[in-house]
Parts: sequence; C-alpha cells; structure tokens
Amino acid sequence: SNGLYIVATPIGNLGDITLRAKETLARCDAVACEDTRVTGKLLRHLGISKPLWRYDDHAGERDRQRLLDAMRTQAIALVSDAGTPLISDPGYRLVSEAREAGIPVTSLPGPSAPIMALTLSGLPSDRFLFAGFLPNKDKARRDVLEELASVRSTLVFFETAPRLGKALEAIGEVLPGREVAVARELTKLYEECRTGSPTQLALHFEAHPPRGEIVLLVGPPATDVVNEADADALLREALETLKTSQAAAH
Ligand code: SAM
Repeated sequence: SNGLYIVATPIGNLGDITLRAKETLARCDAVACEDTRVTGKLLRHLGISKPLWRYDDHAGERDRQRLLDAMRTQAIALVSDAGTPLISDPGYRLVSEAREAGIPVTSLPGPSAPIMALTLSGLPSDRFLFAGFLPNKDKARRDVLEELASVRSTLVFFETAPRLGKALEAIGEVLPGREVAVARELTKLYEECRTGSPTQLALHFEAHPPRGEIVLLVGPPATDVVNEADADALLREALETLKTSQAAAH
C-alpha cells in the first residue's frame, strides 16, 4: 500500500539485507536514494529493478514535494548509501512532512554502524549518546567534547580515517581518563574494534594508519561509587566538622 517505507541496507556485508527489506524493495513503486549508482548496484545484486529518485543532502523543497505527492498513491522506499536512513543521512524532513500530511510511514530496521559499534565495544551500553560526525576544525571539535564532558553516557561519534589522530588527541585532553574504542570497517573483511586509552590508540594508529570507515566511542566518566556505610561515615564526619566550626564561631 501507499506511503513511505524507510529501509535500512547493509553497511558492508550484503548478507545483512533483511527479508523485509528485500520484499519491500521488490514491491515498492520507486526508490528514493542518495546516490543512484550505489543503490542501483545493491538492487542489481538483489535482482530488483525500480525507478530510482535522487534524494540527497542537496535535495530541495521541490524534490521533497514530488516525493510526498507520489507517496499519496504509491509505495516509496527511502534508502541511504549504507545503513539506516536519517542516521547522519537524509530523510528527517521527508518523514516529518509525510507524517504531517497524514501519509503512512513505516520503518524497516536493519544495520546501523553506531549500534553495531556500541554492541562490539564492550563500553557501557545502558545509556549512550550518538552525536554524529565530530567537527573537522580543532576549536569546534574541542567545543563539542567540552559540551559533552558532563554527560554520564557512552558517547558515539562518526569519524574519518585521516582525522582519527586529531580526534584521539582532543579526547585525551578534554576528556582525560576515559576508555575509548575505535570500530573500523564493520561487517567487512578488515573489521576491527580496538579499545584503550586515547594515547594507546593514537600510538597504535600512528604506527598502523587506519583506512576505511570509523565509529569512535568514548566511555562514560568514572563515577565515584560510595556505598551506604561510607556515606554514613562521611555524613557523620561532616556534621562533626560543622558543629566544631559553629562552636568555634560562638
Ligand atoms: N546511516 C548510516 C548508518 O546507519 O550506519 C551512517 C551514515 S554516515 C553518512 C557514514 C559514516 O558511518 C561513516 O563515515 C562511518 O563513520 C560510519 N560507518 C558506516 N559504515 C561503517 C562501517 N562499515 N564501519 C564503520 N563505520 C561505518
């Protein structure tokens, strides 16, 4: 039936396409995608042939209106070059406007690099904050890290291979003492996930310059665990100090 179908696609290994993704791509009327060559290749691999409509970061109001109009009568799939659409990829406005227009929206879950990296890293996964790409300029990168310094969650960023060294250096300075993970080339031949201090990882990747796609994760700040007995003792001590200082003041 008509509407918008958000379809996650593999982030490297084509075996990760889901059964529903395949079915939906085979059944839909057209596929909106970032790069028609990339998506064309995926569809050929699946033995599917569909009209491809370009919808990328440069898409304007007109492209969006054309898609929204089509969705009123047709099934339109939205895919990215890789992974889950809208996650540092186009689609947010399209979904928001489709919902506003009362057009049915469905999302077919599947691969996403930040989630896969989080599950691999061994860092706490109960709370995490995904913050997209770290800025490229030194000052802006530090500002983002400073802004996130007090967040008690694992931080998840996208990073490119040439900038990894600078990012690790900044993390070491702005967020000292944190455990860091570098997840690289996920689901691909040279997949790796390395953990350590920012300095250890910087040294490693200086000696072995990384290639390919990277997710960078930063563990939460260490919490000072205070047990109940300790807390009681601390409280008594604080009260004593207060009494003594009050007595001294009178
Ligand atoms: N929407 C995608 C998703 O759900 O995974 C992410 C799109 S974003 C434009 C692309 C970035 O995701 C890359 O620069 C890299 O940081 C990360 N990424 C994508 N595929 C990856 C992979 N196989 N291994 C590691 N990182 C990957």
